[in-house]
Amino acid sequence: MKMQLNGVTLQSIIGLFCVSQLVQGEANPVGLKQIDFQFPVLERAATKTPFPDWLTAFTGLKEWPGLDPPYIPLDFINFDGIPDYEPYDQNHCNLVPRESCSFDCHHCIGHDDVYTCSKLSQTFDDGPSPSTTKLLDQLEHKSTFFNLGINIVQHPEIYHRMQREGHLIGSHTWSHAYLPNISNEKIIAQIEWSIWAMNATGSHTPKWFRPPYGGIDDRVRAITRQFGLQAVLWDHDTFDWSLLLNNSPTTEQEILQNVVNWNKSKTGLILEHDSTEKTVDLAIKINQLIGDDQSTVSQCVGGIDYIKEFLS
Ligand SMILES: [Zn+2]
Repeated sequence: MKMQLNGVTLQSIIGLFCVSQLVQGEANPVGLKQIDFQFPVLERAATKTPFPDWLTAFTGLKEWPGLDPPYIPLDFINFDGIPDYEPYDQNHCNLVPRESCSFDCHHCIGHDDVYTCSKLSQTFDDGPSPSTTKLLDQLEHKSTFFNLGINIVQHPEIYHRMQREGHLIGSHTWSHAYLPNISNEKIIAQIEWSIWAMNATGSHTPKWFRPPYGGIDDRVRAITRQFGLQAVLWDHDTFDWSLLLNNSPTTEQEILQNVVNWNKSKTGLILEHDSTEKTVDLAIKINQLIGDDQSTVSQCVGGIDYIKEFLS
């Protein structure tokens, strides 16, 4: 039996875009790693996505999970094809074998990973958040948002607005786990619950996936590909989250100067975050610098927006 979602079988779809080269590393601000912002804890919203009956039938549960979602076995997952690299901590790249093709440790890109774009384009991780609405108020082009499942079910109204305004929404896991350091089952849980949050809230199934902290290697890819997901990385990192630190090693001016430099080539994918007011304010300034001639990730590579869109 294959997994049934709203009565439709979830099938793998082979991605269209292939690259097979190493991404050029950014000039990192002093002391910063190429990681993204720590998972933000959001306040409870008044309404949230109802837990659907079909998901109760499938999981036996009645409410959305917390930060550690339970693993629900799926018949279509083939564990035999998953490499058995030892899980490793985010700060221990010295333990990571080169053959695992780690993006965050070695800037290695999988053959079907997307990491750049023919038009310089912003992308936003970690939402939806109350700050996302301010960004949506300003955006005059279609952009790409990689959302956390746990935030989606807390802010369905912001998710619906993103959808209504034509933005592309991809998965950023359920609760921002660093995937190379957890078991295959826990990776599956992070992915399946993020997909279910999107099914239940947006009546669609994502095609595009951004790993938290850029934490992806061939073990993680072997799992996410079985969901039909295609990884989206980046070639320009704003390190916008670092502005939230005391004694930030970079300044807004330095970040904006980087954007000016990136804008000379007019190509690339920029990593940003719509999880806080500060990073959203910066995103609006970046948008003003590079304008609205931008692409969504699917437009960048001539791909589809979603694996499935259901009638809601
Ligand atoms: Zn993130």
